[in-house]
Amino acid sequence: MRALSKVGLVRPPTPAAQLACMRDAVKAGAKDRPGVYRMLAADGEIVYVGKSKKLRTRLLSYFRCEFPVDKGARIVREADRIEWDYHPSEFAALLEELRLIKRYRPRLNVAMKRDARHFAFIKLTRGIAPKLLVVRGSGGDDAQIYYGPFHGAQRVGEAVRELNDALGLRDCRLDQPMHYADQPELFKGFPRTPGCIRYEIRRCLGPCVGGCTAAQYDTRVQLVRGFLDGADDGPLRALREELVAASERLEFERAGSLRDKLQRLEGLREQFIRFRFAIETLSFVYTVPGFDGDDRIYLIRRGRVRSEHVIPRSASDRLRLIDMVTDVFASVERESAQLPAHEIDELLLLSSWFRRFPAELARSRAASAYVAECA
Ligand code: SF4
Repeated sequence: MRALSKVGLVRPPTPAAQLACMRDAVKAGAKDRPGVYRMLAADGEIVYVGKSKKLRTRLLSYFRCEFPVDKGARIVREADRIEWDYHPSEFAALLEELRLIKRYRPRLNVAMKRDARHFAFIKLTRGIAPKLLVVRGSGGDDAQIYYGPFHGAQRVGEAVRELNDALGLRDCRLDQPMHYADQPELFKGFPRTPGCIRYEIRRCLGPCVGGCTAAQYDTRVQLVRGFLDGADDGPLRALREELVAASERLEFERAGSLRDKLQRLEGLREQFIRFRFAIETLSFVYTVPGFDGDDRIYLIRRGRVRSEHVIPRSASDRLRLIDMVTDVFASVERESAQLPAHEIDELLLLSSWFRRFPAELARSRAASAYVAECA
């Protein structure tokens, strides 16, 4: 059963006294069981969120940290009080920690940001004349479409440049004014000068200078989405054809450059395949033993926890759970490397959890096997 403890304090006169007061409150109230804690400043701002398998031990360790050398000492000095919740397991605490960090974005939490920074994502912006960007982490921006995660931001950046060139997509500043060919009224008073040389050398359709209609540009955007979704190899086919033609014309320098481009795009494609495989691997029913017998079942599909359940104790509870498992895993979801921003952090968290504790996979069952065992 989840319990909530709150320790509200009258602000003591000195930092040392305040620390002593918080430490006494932890000693008096915190238990050594899995939980999530929040450090709050005097004005109520949540400055830090953390989790631990042994909450009391973890919280008391903050007061042994050496200031200013240790990060823990710096964190606890920013706090005026500490609040905590208990959770059935370290895994449950980890999920709750992620949710709180995403909700409150505490300024001292850098761990999640650091995790996300290990990976690059390809972001397709929305709005007029969408463009591809290589970013680290999602920034929680659900208005955009993300593909990834990928290793090697530099290589991904090069592949995105090839995609832009192959499909004629823009790569200029987001605030570059766009004037489509089917918006002639916008040219009144504007010289038809492209924003950069890419239009002149035919690497960009030139939506800034009326070089294409909105529909023509959108067709290319759909092509790039097809490629990034793994549904369309169009850019690869076009490059292969160009490569063959250049070789036949004995244009060896050009053929060499096309081969490099092709290899970069194929590298990106291979990463998509590996990524989709990883996502599909993270699809199962995961049973986690909990503190004091509070065992939980997590329905994980495509790298996301779809629901959490208390272990069924009766036949009717079992039947209800079988219905839930069937609902979650039977619906058709298209395989894709596309991710909504809010799913990225959970996917990274789950893959890192099962990488750190591979033995945990022994507690997982394919949905069909779980249903057969339960029935
Ligand atoms: S040609 Fe225009 S739209 Fe294309 S990249 Fe250059 S500035 Fe952007």
